Amino acid sequence: MTGAPIKARDIRKCDICERGLMADRAFTFFRVTFERMAVDVQAVKGIVGMAHILGSEQLAAVMAPSDEVAVPIGPPDQMIVCDMCAMAHREPLFQLAEQAAQAAYVRRGRST
Ligand SMILES: [Zn+2]
Repeated sequence: MTGAPIKARDIRKCDICERGLMADRAFTFFRVTFERMAVDVQAVKGIVGMAHILGSEQLAAVMAPSDEVAVPIGPPDQMIVCDMCAMAHREPLFQLAEQAAQAAYVRRGRST
């Protein structure tokens, strides 16, 4: 599955180094989407309980009232990362996700 192309009006600089994406004559970069998820404990318990009764986790996943075991907790945030930063950056995922959320917040503020 591939994501949607980026239109010229939506392209921006690298969210980490803030340089143009082709600053190093590279023609590839990353569009990273962060989506924080939470386990739906009740749904998991329902599937586990049904699996216990039916004797099959696969059958329980189909027969359970809901097979959705995780839900997003907030909108997804995207980050544009140049190849140089993708190779050099070694930050924890939480820190990058926070940067993406802040960048999205700033972009939303500029567009309104
Ligand atoms: Zn960069």
